Parts: sequence; C-alpha cells; structure tokens
Amino acid sequence: MDLTKKTLTEIRDKIAAQELTSLEVTKALLAEIEAKNDKLGAYLELFAEHCLAKAEKIDKRIKAGEKCGALAGVPIAIKDNMTTVWGKTTCSSKILENFEAPYNATVVEKLLAEDAVIIGKLNLDEFAMGSSTENAGLGKTANPWDSSRVPGGSSGGSAAAVSAGLCYGALGSDTGGSIRQPASFCGVVGLKPTYGRVSRYGLVAFGSSLDQIGPLARNTQDAALLMNVITGHDPKDSTSLSEELAPKTDFTKDIDKPLEGLKIAVVPEFIEKAGEAVKEAIGKAVEFYRSKGAEIREVKMPHSDYAVATYYIVATAEASANLARFDGVRYGYRSEKPENYMDVYTKSRDEGFGAEVKRRIMLGTYALSSGYYDAYYLKALKVRNLIRQDFKYIFKDCDCLLTPTSPSGAFKFGEKSDDPIQMYLEDIYTISANLAGVPGVSIPCGFDENNMPLGMQIITDTFQEAKMLRIARMFEKEHSYENQIPEDSRE
Ligand code: GLN
Repeated sequence: MDLTKKTLTEIRDKIAAQELTSLEVTKALLAEIEAKNDKLGAYLELFAEHCLAKAEKIDKRIKAGEKCGALAGVPIAIKDNMTTVWGKTTCSSKILENFEAPYNATVVEKLLAEDAVIIGKLNLDEFAMGSSTENAGLGKTANPWDSSRVPGGSSGGSAAAVSAGLCYGALGSDTGGSIRQPASFCGVVGLKPTYGRVSRYGLVAFGSSLDQIGPLARNTQDAALLMNVITGHDPKDSTSLSEELAPKTDFTKDIDKPLEGLKIAVVPEFIEKAGEAVKEAIGKAVEFYRSKGAEIREVKMPHSDYAVATYYIVATAEASANLARFDGVRYGYRSEKPENYMDVYTKSRDEGFGAEVKRRIMLGTYALSSGYYDAYYLKALKVRNLIRQDFKYIFKDCDCLLTPTSPSGAFKFGEKSDDPIQMYLEDIYTISANLAGVPGVSIPCGFDENNMPLGMQIITDTFQEAKMLRIARMFEKEHSYENQIPEDSRE
C-alpha cells in the first residue's frame, strides 16, 4: 500500500483500527522525506528521534485500548515560524538560524494534546514575507508538480510537503494569503480562519492584526479535522476570541451535507483580471454551483483596488515594530566583530536579515514616522475599514464570495523576484480577507496550460468556517484531486 497517497482522515482511522501502526506510517514517511526532500526542500528540519519515540508510545496506548486523541499517531508538520521545544525555530532567517525556543506554540500543544506526531519544520519566505518562498534565507523549496516552478508562499514548504505526500497535514500562517496562495499553486486545500479563532501564541509575529494560523491538507475533510484541533480561546493570546464569540465547533460534522438555497457572490471585475486558464476554471466552478441550485449574484467590492496598497502599509508598519526585537542582544544572530555597542545592533540586523525583510522594515518605519503617520498609516486604517464594510455588505445577502485564489498558476523561479511590485500583486485576491478578518479557503479547481494546479477561493463572513467548508466540499466531492501526487516529485 502506498501510504503517501492516503489522506489524514484515512491514516488516522487505519491507525485507530490497528490496521496500521503509527510507527510504520512514521517510518515510511521519514523514508519518503529522506528520498525526496533534497530535491524539494520542503523540510528545514526533521524530528526523527522524537517522532519515532512518540509513535511507539501511541501504538502502545492504542494496543492497550486507551482512549486516544483525534489525530492519534498521524504525522503532521509545522511551518518554521511556530515555536517547538525540539529543534530550532528559524523563520528561514539567518538571524534565527540557531534559535531554540523555550516553549511550544499553543497550536503545537493542541496537536500534541490530540496525539499527533510532529514530524518536522517546513520552509517559508523569511519571516513569512513573500509569495514564492524565494525569499527563504535557509533553503529553496520547489513546486512538487514542476521543480522549475515556485511552490507559492510564504507557506511554500507546507504546501509542497502536503502536495508531495511528505506529511498528512501541515500548519501554515496567513498574513495576506500565505496559506491559500501556496495551497493553490501546489494543488492542495489551504484555510485561513477568522482572525482570533486560532491562537497566535508562539507564532513569530509578522503583522499582528493580520496573522492567522491555519491548516494545509489534502482535502477539506482533513482541513476540517485540523480546524477542530487548533481552534479555541487561548488566555495567552490577548487577540484570541472568547468561547462565546467563537464557540468550539465540529467542522467535520456536517461537511458532507450540501447546502440548499445557497447564494454565491462573484465580482466579475475580479475574475476578468485573472489569466485565461483561471478565468475558465472559475467560470466552470460557478456553473457547477449553479447546476446544484445555487443563485449566483454579481456584486462589487468598490474598495478592493486599494487592498494591496493598504495591506503593504499596515503589514509593513506592524512588521517594523515586531521585528525590532531582533537586535543582536536578545535573540539569535549577533555580528562577530562589532566596533562599538551601536554596531551590535546595526551590524547584527544588517547581516542577519535578508533584502525583503529590510525593505519591509524600512517601508513600515517610514509609514509610521511622525511626518507621514497620518498620510499613510492612518489613511490605510481608514481604507481597511471600508474594505471590511464591502464584505459586510456582500454577506448581508450572500453566503459566500467566490474568487480565484491567484491570478495564475505557479510561475518559474526568478520570474517575479526582481520586481517586488509584481510579487505583491500576487496577493490581489487573498489580501482583503486578512484586512477584514474574515475566513477564506482555497481548494483545487483545475490546471493551467502548463499543467500546474489552480485554486479557487471561498470567503465567508466571520465565524462561518463550517459553512465555508461545506460549500467547498460540495465542489471537491465531484472534482476530487485529493489522491493526486504530482509526478515530478515521484521521480
Ligand atoms: N505575500 C504576502 C506578503 O508577502 C503575504 C504573506 C503572508 O501571508 N505571510 O506579505
């Protein structure tokens, strides 16, 4: 049996039924990673010893008939901007290359509480800043469907690992699209939850008012299962939502029940902006929902033209403050030959951060400076509010908004990396959901002219993830991509 083709839910059930042991699954996966990771570069670090010991323990408990957690024995991987007490937490940055975190992120604790086996840490754009994982400071990740193309970003390692069958599910973080866009490029499911639904404790902060952790998985059912585990109030995160606002939900429960009387919003100008293959795939998806009885409503998002600009003010402003803590004194890398104490700060930061991170710190510092605060930062906050209202208006009448996830399929290495603006425009469809705090999911919906996967995005109002997953599942069930493992990664 080829274990890498199985979904998380299938593997979980087989381990629980004692048809497979966690140890054999974990060993098979480690061997697969060993064979493929040199070419793919999805993992920065593996916790082989830890996870084999953990797998053995869980097998014993299952054998003894003990009640085990919802992910018992299943290997899951983590984007390397979430802290783990094993190994390093690097954010794929030279400045944190040797950083060992003293505690686990809340999401990691939650996975452990459900008996998952944490197999390793996955590559990303440095500090999650990017759309292609080309900004990674500690390694390169390729797209499993074609190794001359990028996996998307910033959770490129997470998407590539799930897509190539090198883990059964992964966690990513999404500040402007970093779960959904790589999911779309690699042909997997990626979900960004409502802001505050998943604890950010232990997630290295990029844009604190935008960042959310979420799952990447082979299908929506697996994503729902991971959502069950990672959501919930956390007193350690002051932006985490209370149980009253966001009650614990079983996202898997009704996922197979199609929705009746569904009203789907589309913004024709959005779809017009995408490449031909994307337009065609989205058109077909819209027709699919119509054939299932959904009403399709054409709507406008009047402020969406400003979303990318607004995001790059808010995100960089927050990043400039968040990254001030990496100063050569408190964390990570310190320059080897500082001439005086100022040099400790400036040289450590200069040598430790990559070009994109520096660009963002400068942009954010500028936007927050006293002369420009009102003109840039404050204005951006006002536009952010207008974007929020655009969504509110749509969700008054409609269940969801359907858009492409990205304007195209995965592009080649180097195609956009010299032009930051081109790269920033990659996020045109995903960024608004972060600005508004609403959830979004990307699911596979076809292929482009280069045979690269394409994704469509379903966005709903806050707290509607269960409905969002049901809508996505309706399409997925009749267009199943979940057992496809790209040929390129199997060479
Ligand atoms: N691509 C966007 C950026 O570079 C989004 C990143 C993210 O979501 N972490 O900021």
